[in-house]
Amino acid sequence: MTMAGSVTAAGIDVEKIREDFPVLKQTIHGKPLVYFDSAATAQKPFAVIDAIRKFHEVDCANIHRGVHELSQRSTAAYEETRSKARRFLNARNNSEIIFVRGTTEGINLVVSSWGRRNVREGDEIIISAMEHHSNIVPWQMLCEERSAKLRVIPMNDRGELILEEYEKLLNPRTRMVAFGHVSNALGTINPARQIIQMAHRAGALTLVDGAQAAPHMNIDVQALDSDFYTFSGHKVFGPTGIGVLHGKMRLLNAMPPYQGGGDMIRTVTFEKTTYNDLPYKFEAGTPNIAGGIGLGAALDYMTGIGLDKIAAYEHELLLYGTEALSKIPGLRLIGTAREKAAVLSFVIDGIHPHDIGTVLDRQGIAVRTGHHCAQPVMDWFHVPATTRASLAFYNTAAEIDALVAGLHKVKEVFG
Ligand code: PLP
Repeated sequence: MTMAGSVTAAGIDVEKIREDFPVLKQTIHGKPLVYFDSAATAQKPFAVIDAIRKFHEVDCANIHRGVHELSQRSTAAYEETRSKARRFLNARNNSEIIFVRGTTEGINLVVSSWGRRNVREGDEIIISAMEHHSNIVPWQMLCEERSAKLRVIPMNDRGELILEEYEKLLNPRTRMVAFGHVSNALGTINPARQIIQMAHRAGALTLVDGAQAAPHMNIDVQALDSDFYTFSGHKVFGPTGIGVLHGKMRLLNAMPPYQGGGDMIRTVTFEKTTYNDLPYKFEAGTPNIAGGIGLGAALDYMTGIGLDKIAAYEHELLLYGTEALSKIPGLRLIGTAREKAAVLSFVIDGIHPHDIGTVLDRQGIAVRTGHHCAQPVMDWFHVPATTRASLAFYNTAAEIDALVAGLHKVKEVFG
């Protein structure tokens, strides 16, 4: 990788960025922490930690209800995040931005509300072979309930979806195509625009699981023309328990509420309740106010660096890591798509991923081992589990060197 001082060719000053992440400063088992588990949850910069702290220290009040100053401030800060999320996704309108707990809830909201209203016996839902369980199980539950059919776009040996096979699956019964923008287990960046266009030509809607795309690249829901797009706050350097579902206004307006309770109503009598306007119709009860404010700070942080710079830097890191890992005898990368985001999933002949993870942990290196909530992906590649190093813009080439050294150690212990 080419670097001038700590500034990389992509224009990211990684050493300066690392100063913003207090977690990264510690040692684990006497070694500097190398955090390669950002796909599971990303670390939080001071900007996020401070925004949450400030809310609790200075502004803390419930939102949308009070005329008093604290409530006004809290409401303004929370709603400001809606504007930030709209800009982050390039959505048309704040009313299209629904706050949810995370990607899982975003998908479940669409399944419960849109799905129950629109999916009937004999209808078909298409997902892909590389989905996270969050984008499999809710659709499976809906299909069981409605006697609908779940169909799966297959992938090739590199971990790329086979679009010719997808084309064959589309038919007039297809109601929804739900797929991950980026695979958490393989790193594959799917051709979202093309998948969406093909679905639309067949008269189907689309839901994009953006959990692993939002931390790594510019997202433009208008250019994609996605009908629903969802991501999690904690994977974009924000807090847990908050996320965003974007939906096209016409679709959201036609959908029934997801949950009933405070804030989602306009009037309530024992005879009848009328519902609030978008987006509040889908936001029952006191939300994760601190989380929403923290998410706003996280989105500011990322856009402050620049999503294009982040993507370029991580690509450099991915190429460096791919080359370095490929030199380790007996190591096989799982997921070698031509379009790939910052995930290095691999197996090593004869060594169980849990053993790899344990030895790496002793070197201070945090990786994820297991099926990554994508068991069908593991089945497809005939492996029980992989070791996954997932990268973020605060990682460095030196940390990849430490991973390689750690893996040599693993081979010494188990070889
Ligand atoms: N989809 C993908 C591709 C993911 O990687 C994840 C989390 O790992 C999820 C969905 C679920 O996200 P959450 O647990 O934040 O709801």
